[in-house]
Amino acid sequence: MIQNAQILFPVNVPAPFDYAVPAGISVSAGDFVFAPIGKQIKLGVVWSVGQAEAGRELKEIVQVKAAKPLSGDLLKFLSWTASYNVGSLGQVLRMVMRNYKALDPSPIVTLYMPTENPPKNLTPARRAALREGGPFPARASEIAARAGMSPGVVKGMVKAGAMQAIEGPVDAPFDIPNPDLLGKELTTAQSEAALDLAAQVRRGDFNVSLLDGVTGSGKTEVYFEAVTEALRRGQQVLVLVPEIALTQAGLSRFKDRFGAEPAAWHSQMGEAPRRRVWREVAQGRAKLVVGARSALYLPFPNLGLIVVDEEHDTSYKQEEGIIYNARDMAVVRGKISGHAVVLASATPSLESLHNARSGKFAHIVLPERPGAITLPDIGLIDLKEHQPEKGDFLSPPLLQSVSEVLGRREQAMLYLNRRGYAPLIICRSCGEKLKSPDTDSWLVQHKRTGRAMCHLTGFSMPMPRRCPECEAEDSLTPVGPGVERVAEEAMKHFPDAKIEVFSSDTAGNPAEIAARLKRMEEGQIDILVGTQMVVKGHNFPKLTFVGVVDGDLGLAGGDPRAGERTYQTLVQVAGRAGRADKPGHALIQTHQPEHEALVALAAGDRDMFIGMELAMREMLGLPPFGRLAAVIISGPELAKVKSLAEKFARLAPRTEGVEILGPSEAPIGRLRGCFRWRLFIQAEPQVNLSRYMAVWKAKLRPPSKYKIQIDIDPQNFM
Ligand code: ADP
Repeated sequence: MIQNAQILFPVNVPAPFDYAVPAGISVSAGDFVFAPIGKQIKLGVVWSVGQAEAGRELKEIVQVKAAKPLSGDLLKFLSWTASYNVGSLGQVLRMVMRNYKALDPSPIVTLYMPTENPPKNLTPARRAALREGGPFPARASEIAARAGMSPGVVKGMVKAGAMQAIEGPVDAPFDIPNPDLLGKELTTAQSEAALDLAAQVRRGDFNVSLLDGVTGSGKTEVYFEAVTEALRRGQQVLVLVPEIALTQAGLSRFKDRFGAEPAAWHSQMGEAPRRRVWREVAQGRAKLVVGARSALYLPFPNLGLIVVDEEHDTSYKQEEGIIYNARDMAVVRGKISGHAVVLASATPSLESLHNARSGKFAHIVLPERPGAITLPDIGLIDLKEHQPEKGDFLSPPLLQSVSEVLGRREQAMLYLNRRGYAPLIICRSCGEKLKSPDTDSWLVQHKRTGRAMCHLTGFSMPMPRRCPECEAEDSLTPVGPGVERVAEEAMKHFPDAKIEVFSSDTAGNPAEIAARLKRMEEGQIDILVGTQMVVKGHNFPKLTFVGVVDGDLGLAGGDPRAGERTYQTLVQVAGRAGRADKPGHALIQTHQPEHEALVALAAGDRDMFIGMELAMREMLGLPPFGRLAAVIISGPELAKVKSLAEKFARLAPRTEGVEILGPSEAPIGRLRGCFRWRLFIQAEPQVNLSRYMAVWKAKLRPPSKYKIQIDIDPQNFM
């Protein structure tokens, strides 16, 4: 009897291929193997093993790689991810296998570290190597790069008795976190929540808890206790955070609590740190991983807990390649591996709240901030009634509040989720608006850099002096505010105040970000004007006032979650105010003071808002009461995209309980030169929408350069 094996390659293929297992080789599911595909020999993963049909000619596996196999749970999770999100299984495997070198043990090299008693009379360069070259032990080239010298200096220090050379792995293992260090002394409410969470972990089976606590209530301190419990059980822990919360300050909190730097994972990482984290996770040695959404696809052999912090955050949705929502997939991973999952937020998604209310998730609530600190009170400013001066954006009541705050020597923050100076540049002479060259998007004026930029594609050009259309000189005029313009206006009103802009354009490298946050924390900034960069997790003890420049910004457009998003963002923004011993205050400028999201915010009545939103969603059959999917059809020629979309729509399988909307042009009708059309599919809850979409998708293969993308449970309606 000949054994065969189904091998999946990390390329865009829907399923594994069959191979013969040659005599003398034995393989099991999860093994890494080399096998021929086309004219190449490629590394793939054994998906399953069976008996070959007699008489079938199969290519043979060439070699089994000596590496730890992927676990059965992980294979199951990958299959689940692919079928739920209607993506190719090979592409899902690619999310796991991006680092072939991580499959090998770390090479042993010469590393250098300071001796216990370095001689006193060292040259300045050698002293710098000791002072700035760490963390040690490290390679001579790393130490030299960090301290700004040549590697020869480092090597020369061995003879001088200032450094010692040791043999060690290039990628050092992570320090082991210590669950027995003492955390902050918890309040009664926090202790109860922490005990509940720890008990969920101790059960050792699949369960989900929604940790629902107002901003600043100590959710992090509380879920640390769940982390502790899993670490004590010898298990690995994954804490997912939104990408922009992966700052040094954020990681330091873990280090302070557990005495060891966690393994950090995010999309901007270099090859070497990526390889290190992957290998250490796969070997089960990295016990605590803090990462952005793709960390969910690391090969943990012994996962005991996943925490999804800020579970409502839209950055958990991956919008390119395999489109998936890491928050939802975290729950699936917990279910497959049989462990606890904690979703934490001050503003949980309606889906999670619905699951908590219906008893599917345990609901653990932290209703207040520790100590005597109260939540900020929130007021609305009706812009129809309180108009800013002509050409300005800050209304008199908002300016009045800032002025009072500055008078008390406290800090103010002005929030506007718009980078740059002005979101639109218009020609006063001919009325033309500056547009991105190959994308349906207006160019944004950036005064600081003197450029006009497309925020969708990153295209930018120097700000022109003449209108590109009518050639009129000096006729281009900024329309509307961005953070730079708000800062300019604040300077006009408060010339003595120290004002800084904080957005992804001005943030700079991690060290500069940390320095700016520190200046804010220490009170060296009076008014911080910021985008969503300022919303996440920072604690500014002297910040007592938050002004929202445009409360209506998120409400426009066809997104059914617009109200929910606006509510969540504004609660988080307002929650920055009044964290220490001073009460906070927030004002929201709006043209729609009657909008239910804003009314509920001002009334501090979340239950009212959630009740209304859920009722509305139920009536319209929207999630969590119905299911949604989107299809984006894109390609280089408009007419072909349109006819492809229409053809695809005609092929929709007929099923009870499914309604198809469109096709129509997407709001962003052209992106990087590709035209875009789309369809929406709304289904009743009992419909298996993934299977439906998979059947449909299989009916039409788009011509090359054209794409049909399926988005299950879309978050993005552009
Ligand atoms: P959340 O995640 O709910 O916004 P955090 O866990 O970040 O809240 O806590 C907010 C701030 O309050 C942090 O600086 C935290 O260290 C502090 N804090 C929370 N609970 C306590 C406590 N029991 N004792 C002392 N400080 C606390």
